[in-house]
Amino acid sequence: MQRRQFLTLWGLSLPLVSSCAARLPAFPAPSAGPALPEASDWQQFQQQLHGQLLGHDHDEFVWRAKSANSRFDQQVPAVIVRAASSADVQLTLQFVRRFNLPFAIRGGGHSYTGLSGTAGLLLDLGLLQQIHYADGQARIGAGAKLGDVYAALGVYQQSIPAGSCASVGIAGLMQGGGLGIADRMHGLTCDALLEAEIVTADGQLLRCNANQHADLFWALRGGGGGQLGVLTELSFRTFPTATVRNYIGRYPLTNGEQVLTEWQRWATQLPDTVWTQLAIWVNGDSKDAAEIQIRCCGIGHQADVTQAWQQLENRLSGLWGDVDMQDHLYLDFMLSDCKGLDSNQCKLPSQHDAGKLKRVAMAGSSDMFNKILPAAGCQALLSAMRKRAQQGQIGAVLLTLMGGAIAAKPRDFNAFAHRHALFSAQYLSIHPEHSDESLLAKSAAWCHQMRYQMRRWSSGGAYLNYTDGLIKHPAIAYYAGHYARLQQIKRQYDPQGLFRQRQGIKV
Ligand SMILES: Cc1cc2nc3c(=O)[nH]c(=O)nc-3n(C[C@H](O)[C@H](O)[C@H](O)COP(=O)(O)OP(=O)(O)OC[C@H]3O[C@@H](n4cnc5c(N)ncnc54)[C@H](O)[C@@H]3O)c2cc1C
Repeated sequence: MQRRQFLTLWGLSLPLVSSCAARLPAFPAPSAGPALPEASDWQQFQQQLHGQLLGHDHDEFVWRAKSANSRFDQQVPAVIVRAASSADVQLTLQFVRRFNLPFAIRGGGHSYTGLSGTAGLLLDLGLLQQIHYADGQARIGAGAKLGDVYAALGVYQQSIPAGSCASVGIAGLMQGGGLGIADRMHGLTCDALLEAEIVTADGQLLRCNANQHADLFWALRGGGGGQLGVLTELSFRTFPTATVRNYIGRYPLTNGEQVLTEWQRWATQLPDTVWTQLAIWVNGDSKDAAEIQIRCCGIGHQADVTQAWQQLENRLSGLWGDVDMQDHLYLDFMLSDCKGLDSNQCKLPSQHDAGKLKRVAMAGSSDMFNKILPAAGCQALLSAMRKRAQQGQIGAVLLTLMGGAIAAKPRDFNAFAHRHALFSAQYLSIHPEHSDESLLAKSAAWCHQMRYQMRRWSSGGAYLNYTDGLIKHPAIAYYAGHYARLQQIKRQYDPQGLFRQRQGIKV
């Protein structure tokens, strides 16, 4: 981290402008680069901001400093800027550039590797949450969370293809791609983006779309969060919603070989109207039998979903399974985590003081599979999960069918590099909030090891929304054949590398 001295701003009380100077701690002069901001610089910055500047003794600082994952709670920002407009974002970038301050951009705060955390200036976009709908298009503030998006568009019986967790930020999700139950019919979240407003490294506010700054527009869609600028507004094409028919089947892991083999064969024949995921959950109790869970659903097209499920049952006939089928209103299904909660409660406690969703401590990794796993691949996956269960450890693997509208687009439609994968895989280890870092480090290693064990059968690709800090060749894994083009665009829009990430696109 550059400019470690910035950390010593710990005592700053920025909301009280007049007390700024008195409370500025003494810190060593920087060894190189511009001088650190003086109290008068902070005061001037604060006066120009329309949003908020929160120092450590602000009432909301402690909870707003936290991200979704308690693994990163130790990384406390020196100061939080809550931008209320694109102009605030421009001002903030100007300030961090002038003093060469470390900073991070935060949407929903869900980054698996803490990319939206910093010991420096945290640029929180949560105030940019306005959502407007008209004529099949949604204009969404870049700080909005998926729950807000689904609820606001739900009024018009419209939606966008996106993920399943209400507290995830739209801007972070879109920039990594965006997988969800609508993607086989309507494409990835980034495929539905029509236009974006972004503040680039030089402080310019650009509008980019297929005609204006088309190269930047290409890169933003799937090239990874926070690498090319700060997004302030996103416009998406929407789709009309319909009832969601959802099947969940549960099967014992002891029948894993048959279930996994048949699920893959069946899944790859499905019409685009049907989405499915196979998950193996190991819950940390070696006495509790681990299970395989198959989800199969569709938005509308109930007959397709039922027919598909019956075909799966035929393939699995003779196996004991516990099956549940329900039809849901689209909004109830997408906001199922928020049942009985109002929109403020349907947030993490790090996003809103009324937030009731649970923070966790977690680590993950991912794979992309372009072909069906052969028997040896199924065996490797199942053995690893059985071993994890015997050890009494927590772990999960989620295989999610891709294809459909995702694969129907040309390979270089946008920067998302794994368009032709058959399945994505997510390796996960989710622990209670505040679990020990030594446990989390072991879990992260296990998730990464799963990727290593499956390397003979995977494409080598990894999903940018499930970042794994242990991946040694991130350029190949995350960006594959798109890396050179992304580098060119990065050089054009961020030649000094203001937006830096350890596994990010290098200038
Ligand atoms: C519980 C959970 C459920 C999930 N479900 C899904 C799912 O269903 N489908 C799926 O595809 N993914 C899913 N994800 C992964 C998720 O998409 C990524 O973690 C995503 O990066 C989160 O975005 P965020 O804004 O919440 O996180 P943040 O940590 O705030 O941001 C992630 C990255 O984007 C950058 N960023 C955020 N906002 C902006 C902005 N306005 N401008 C520029 N850069 C910005 C950040 O700096 C960071 O680098 C899930 C993750 C979790 C933890």
